[in-house]
Amino acid sequence: MKRLQGKVAVVTGGARGIGRVIVETFVNEGAQMVFSLDVIESQFESPNVRHVVLDVTNREQITAFVETVKKEFKQIHVLVNNAGITRDALIQKMDEAMWDHVINVNLKGVFNLTQAIAPIMMENREGSIINISSVVGEYGNIGQTNYAASKAGVIGMTYTWAKEFTRKGAAVRTNAIAPGYIETEMMETVSAKVIESICKKNPLGRLGKPQEIANAVLFLASDEASYVNGHVLSVNGGLRL
Ligand code: NAD
Repeated sequence: MKRLQGKVAVVTGGARGIGRVIVETFVNEGAQMVFSLDVIESQFESPNVRHVVLDVTNREQITAFVETVKKEFKQIHVLVNNAGITRDALIQKMDEAMWDHVINVNLKGVFNLTQAIAPIMMENREGSIINISSVVGEYGNIGQTNYAASKAGVIGMTYTWAKEFTRKGAAVRTNAIAPGYIETEMMETVSAKVIESICKKNPLGRLGKPQEIANAVLFLASDEASYVNGHVLSVNGGLRL
């Protein structure tokens, strides 16, 4: 049997990069329906995917979306909070709008979706929430005060929800993945020189691929991870060794 046979999943930021590969992987593993939420349109067509143009900072859009899904499917088995942005600068040059934008999407967006969807999982007494953090949330990075704060915050919420959503015998697991540097459009703002030095520091000598993150997400989403809760899985090629 495929690992997500019959499951209903929601993936934010599903139109491109890591999110898009997560959506494809879930469909290949038998998901009944994957809702791909994004502010941009997606090219990936499948009878098992519905693209919804939705901004994770817009709570009204989220409420309307979740009500519709609840009516049609009754359950959401998997939530992947993947949407994320960067607005980099040294703190002296980071204006308030850069701080607010990154915190709103990367931190409050995760709060918004989880607050709307976790009650459905709790009612059904099962579910898996996977938050995409970052190596930057674990260890910091020059020029990324806002991003590091948002991704460290995601780890804090993960630990909290691993306790909150398992109360009263509910098996709603919450875990996070902390990717290292992955080959996506997000990395296009990083200079070739910096990418070369990142690769040199990495024992595997290269950037990661979106599929390598999607594989880890699939594991945490599936019943194979039924006893994994409140864990932050670093998928970074050994970058910090
Ligand atoms: P990406 O920029 O290629 O994709 C991010 C997606 O999120 C885009 O499709 C974008 O439209 C969507 N998005 C942005 N704002 C949104 C909003 N307000 N509402 C809904 N969707 C929105 O980035 P990626 O590299 O695929 O990153 C995916 C996740 O992985 C992010 O959370 C990112 O922080 C994290 N991450 C990436 C790397 C990396 O090296 N690429 C490393 C560590 C963590």
